[in-house]
Amino acid sequence: MPIVSIACLSVKRDEYEKLVDSLGPRDVPCIWCGHPFTYRHGVYIRRPMDVTRPFLIRRRFCPACRHTFALLPTFLSPYQRATIPLQDEACYRLAQGQSYETVLRHLDVRGIHLFDMATLRRWFRRLVLQVHKILPALTALAQREAPELSLSRLRAGVRDAWVMAYYERLTVWAGPSADSGNWNLLRLILYVFAPSLSGNRVSYGLLPTPPP
Ligand SMILES: [Zn+2]
Repeated sequence: MPIVSIACLSVKRDEYEKLVDSLGPRDVPCIWCGHPFTYRHGVYIRRPMDVTRPFLIRRRFCPACRHTFALLPTFLSPYQRATIPLQDEACYRLAQGQSYETVLRHLDVRGIHLFDMATLRRWFRRLVLQVHKILPALTALAQREAPELSLSRLRAGVRDAWVMAYYERLTVWAGPSADSGNWNLLRLILYVFAPSLSGNRVSYGLLPTPPP
């Protein structure tokens, strides 16, 4: 399902549903052809592992090109079973240098059971690759936001200095409670925590450029 991210930074089902249901045709241009209005077009179910109730993800239909797409809340990435805040938290701990066992135990205590470390390793490996692609652009955004601040160099003594720099710049740019959903809202370069996609970038709402 092609998607486009929509600003909804809180992991609250009601907030997402209220927001998307309030959108009129002209609030959501088509992500495929840029047509200025789209209509509601049903729902599908997403069940993130760290949220108790499922989300009904709203779809839109474009009367011009007749394509559909989904409005995904900022706290979900395409095709992921965990929310972005959860993946951010786990990856931040790993980047700091905590062991995979420690992070797994931490999640377990919170009632989130990943069962093995393969999922954690996949999250972290993917984030490391993605951060290498987006860090220069994010650094420029953070510097524009706070020109007086000297952004720290890559830190020594951590598992991954690039990922640590990513989270530092994310909060400088978008505030202390920022997560990777803030970056995804930009629709720039790639969606953090989404699986990589070589051919059809419009599936993640990155092309074509939406009209201003
Ligand atoms: Zn269209």
